[in-house]
Amino acid sequence: MVGALDISITKSETSKLGTLDLANIPFGKYFTDHMLVADYEDGEWKNVSIQPYAPITISPANAAIHYGQSIFEGIKAYRHENGEAYIFRPFDNYKRFNKSAERMQMPAVPEEIFVEGMRKLIELDKEWIPAKKDHSLYIRPFMFANDDVIGVKPSDKYKFMIILCPTGPYYAVPMKIYVEEHFVRAVPGGVGFAKAAGNYGSSMYPTNEAKKKGYDQVLWTDAVEHKYLQEFGMMNGFVIIGNTAITPNLDEGTILAGVTRDTVITILKEIGLTVEERPISIHEVVEAYQNGTLKEVFGTGTAATISMIKELCYKDNVMTFDTDSWTISPEVKKRLTDIREGRAADTHEWLYKI
Ligand SMILES: *Cc1c(COP(=O)(O)O)cnc(C)c1O
Repeated sequence: MVGALDISITKSETSKLGTLDLANIPFGKYFTDHMLVADYEDGEWKNVSIQPYAPITISPANAAIHYGQSIFEGIKAYRHENGEAYIFRPFDNYKRFNKSAERMQMPAVPEEIFVEGMRKLIELDKEWIPAKKDHSLYIRPFMFANDDVIGVKPSDKYKFMIILCPTGPYYAVPMKIYVEEHFVRAVPGGVGFAKAAGNYGSSMYPTNEAKKKGYDQVLWTDAVEHKYLQEFGMMNGFVIIGNTAITPNLDEGTILAGVTRDTVITILKEIGLTVEERPISIHEVVEAYQNGTLKEVFGTGTAATISMIKELCYKDNVMTFDTDSWTISPEVKKRLTDIREGRAADTHEWLYKI
């Protein structure tokens, strides 16, 4: 008797691995040999399979394309020197995925499919995890509505998939940030806390406007007063004033609860800083800059880990920083990378063995 969630595996006949130079790979362009696919139909998950990576067929009336019922996650797996491979905090992404699903009126994905399916998929494509320092395998789970009816309603059918791509070191050059006071990313009661595809689509115009002004990214502020910090582009933000690291609190539902954010909070405390999760206004940042207590400003996320900010522009105030002299964010990044890549003990049980 085959259980509903048994995963059928069809291996690809050949591997693309030999044709690629894993040391020089652009982010998000080359995918591994296999992908995971599962269907939600008639109120249950079925047809869970790992199969050769290939295009999929969808109807032109696909509901996700028309109305944006689509969510995703971003996770990384690392190979240690002894050859073992580990996924970083997959259960946290799993929980967040189902929170996004609930907000978008989509079905929850069972842990056996999300985490165990991911583990099996990576096991099959393990050779794709680059064995070099600062390299990793990027994991992209996603789910989209799959009804072929253009009526505005939650779909009856959904597809959940996982694809993988090897990534090289992400040389996060310090960024120039424009404090956005007109466009908004998230409002209380909205979908800012969900990793919903549309959040990315709607951020592209404001980001491009900031690029035209010579900035790399925007700092999103709150939708009502345009004063309180939300996020740096698609990264969570930290400001270090004196011996205190401050990051916006999650209560309003306007901030994505980053797994890196949570990890960085833990590490900052371990290196002796006080961490405050609370509203922080841009005026407080400007004041700290002017009186010399503003030490470091950075963004956090799975892709770049930590991105230092070398310039912050708010109205007429252009705040510049000598990021080469910073000590806290490089130390946090080193500690985190050492845990991920197996050079430091995993005392928080963040690593999940493949
Ligand atoms: C994914 C994401 C982050 C970072 O989350 P991590 O779990 O740390 O990768 C931050 N902000 C937004 C808007 C995101 O979509």
